[in-house]
Amino acid sequence: MFKKILIANRGEIALRVIWACRELGIRTVAVHSNVDRDSLHVRFADEDICIGPAQSADSYLNVKAIISAAEICGADAIHPGYGFLAENAHFAKVCAECGISFIGPRAETIRRMGDKVEARRTMITAGVPVVPGSEGVLATFDGLEDLAQSLGYPVIIKASAGGGGRGMRIVESPADLRGAVEAARAEAGASFASDEVYVEKYLTNPRHIEFQILGDSYGNVVHLFERECSVQRRHQKILEEAPSPVMDEELRRRMGEAALVAARAVEYENAGTVEFLLDEDGSFYFMEMNTRIQVEHPVTENITRLDLVKEQIRVAAGEALQFRQEDLSIHGWSIEARVNAEDPWTFRPCPGLITTFHPPGGPGVRLDTAAYAGYTVLPHYDSMIAKLIARGKTREEALSRLARALDLFVIEGISTNLPLLAEIIAAPAFVSGQLGTRFMDDLLEERAQRDVLWGETPPFSGTP
Ligand code: ADP
Repeated sequence: MFKKILIANRGEIALRVIWACRELGIRTVAVHSNVDRDSLHVRFADEDICIGPAQSADSYLNVKAIISAAEICGADAIHPGYGFLAENAHFAKVCAECGISFIGPRAETIRRMGDKVEARRTMITAGVPVVPGSEGVLATFDGLEDLAQSLGYPVIIKASAGGGGRGMRIVESPADLRGAVEAARAEAGASFASDEVYVEKYLTNPRHIEFQILGDSYGNVVHLFERECSVQRRHQKILEEAPSPVMDEELRRRMGEAALVAARAVEYENAGTVEFLLDEDGSFYFMEMNTRIQVEHPVTENITRLDLVKEQIRVAAGEALQFRQEDLSIHGWSIEARVNAEDPWTFRPCPGLITTFHPPGGPGVRLDTAAYAGYTVLPHYDSMIAKLIARGKTREEALSRLARALDLFVIEGISTNLPLLAEIIAAPAFVSGQLGTRFMDDLLEERAQRDVLWGETPPFSGTP
């Protein structure tokens, strides 16, 4: 087992890795930018090293500085968390070359799955259904109109190197096709290393259903069931739950099997996620594979009673999985809400000093956060400041616990989306589990109409 792990991340996920390391008796090294000295991951790690200035490009994305830090501290492994360098194949390769274990899949797997066009091709070869679309990247406009016509509008233009919901354009009619390709290409070129784009049929209100997978270096791979992540705004997840309210045993068996085929196709090692779109007619399609721990992993931990980060560390250290597919089953229900430092009406980020922070607790409530009273949410990084995760014997119990926990969560000094989260889980479509990726658009549309009726911002209950 590793003796010392460097955590190449910040915020709640860095703390999450520290928790796992403490339980495993592994020392931890926090890296931080010069504005992050007061962050909790720095305080709770055994050692810490400053790796550069505030801008991520110079610190949390600075491969040289992070590798140097690992060498100076004598870390034998690096946990990348999510975001930053977690899906950077170059970083994983450099770690391997320096004799440092990268806690994640092999660099080659990250590279192959990070290229969405190549991932699609790999899945087609493996026999996993993919969303109907172009065979490869769109090099020219030749034949594009015919292809889009044969897929049927709407279609979606997506960046092959895309992530975080960027580089996507929905096209409703042939007249908009060219402009959308150019816009997606420009956005992709500015945000990612490549401006390659491809086209897919756009499903109008599918569910986003993903399967957690876990593989070791001996060829064992299992899935840890599904997560329902249809509650999204601008392709970004807001609430996630496990299991999915839509799932029955037969669908779970078929989708789980497809997830395993996908994982085996790339000889997957470590924790990963296979994302699918489930259409209203019951067809499902592979969308992409995320080669890292996900933000929403705690809901899976709650229903499987496993510790995914400890599992990641164990398989990276060369241990074999201690369970097989038939040993796994679902226990109860779990729902996660992402708490963001943002205006609940305009969604603008609201960094600043947290003056009061009263976290909820009690039966069935877990809070993953690096925030505290006196902490300043920095403008340089992600606005997610906490993940509030409830579990219960049933969906109803998990939901009622999440509702009371949201209500009793007090954060003052900055604006948060707590009122929005409360509004979402009270919405009839959410309560009944009738979800689709259009859910948030419908909710915000209704809210806008209510605003017109009420004059201005409607009153809401919950934390101001
Ligand atoms: P990213 O890597 O940027 O997160 P994804 O490919 O995972 O992008 O897609 C993010 C979200 O965009 C999905 O969860 C879904 O809501 C939407 N989406 C992507 N492709 C399609 C599609 N073909 N039809 C409908 N919605 C899609």
